[in-house]
Amino acid sequence: MNKFAAPRKSLGQNFLQDPNIINKIVASLGITKNDAVVEIGPGRGALTDLIIPQAGHTHLIEFDRDLVVHWQDRANSIKNLTVHGADVMRFDLHEIISTSDRKIKVIGNLPYNISSPVLFHLMHYAEHIEHQVVMLQKEVVERMASGPGSRQYGRLSVMLQQRYHIENLFKVPPTAFFPAPKVDSAIARLTPLTTIPFPVDNQTDFEKTVKQSFSMRRKTLRNNLKGSIDSEQIESLGIDPGARAETLEVADFAALSNLYTKLPKTA
Ligand code: SAM
Repeated sequence: MNKFAAPRKSLGQNFLQDPNIINKIVASLGITKNDAVVEIGPGRGALTDLIIPQAGHTHLIEFDRDLVVHWQDRANSIKNLTVHGADVMRFDLHEIISTSDRKIKVIGNLPYNISSPVLFHLMHYAEHIEHQVVMLQKEVVERMASGPGSRQYGRLSVMLQQRYHIENLFKVPPTAFFPAPKVDSAIARLTPLTTIPFPVDNQTDFEKTVKQSFSMRRKTLRNNLKGSIDSEQIESLGIDPGARAETLEVADFAALSNLYTKLPKTA
């Protein structure tokens, strides 16, 4: 009999069951015995069972109480395993980072309903992360990795590419999971940039500028940025105010954001 409760839909529980895919995903992180690896949502351990023997230390962050009990029980006999029973969105990764003398590696087959918030949460710790391998809905990975001029290029692409080198590694079909999800999935590897080519002076202003620029995709920057940055100011950066956000490079968004940060604001 299966010792686990039925998969919980509310926690996005689609467990991996294809050994080839599982091997490929874990290999993408390039784990060595010197590494502290953090797995978000180990579930029943499809990835975890491969990670533990390869890593120096493995940390699991799991929200499902029954699964936390299961992993705590296993951790009693596995020296290099620590279990953190928590919601990853509320978990302070410094708790783990402070125990490691080198950058950590992060892996997760993430629940799709919280995948973007998890990526933004992890961004706070980017300087302490060497690589991050995540499974997401295929369309989300395409959006993350696409460049200017493509239909998928948008807010998520710009926000993440300012901070990471992003690779869309491979697709994963629904048949690789139990239960099978309704959508295709893909694996992305995010490597935080050690030297940020287009730094932003204020992260909140950057978020605001990018969001506003893309607020109506078919409208021009002049229109979308009305009230924040005017046409002459956009032009002073060498950017065409009549262009659409989808044609701009990450460097342009960083320049717009840094200009906005310097502008006097009316209360
Ligand atoms: N890694 C396993 C696999 O590949 O088979 C399970 C992946 S399943 C898609 C997502 C996992 O994340 C589940 O174990 C689920 O309980 C856990 N989870 C869901 N929401 C979470 C949260 N907010 N914080 C931490 N873990 C969460």
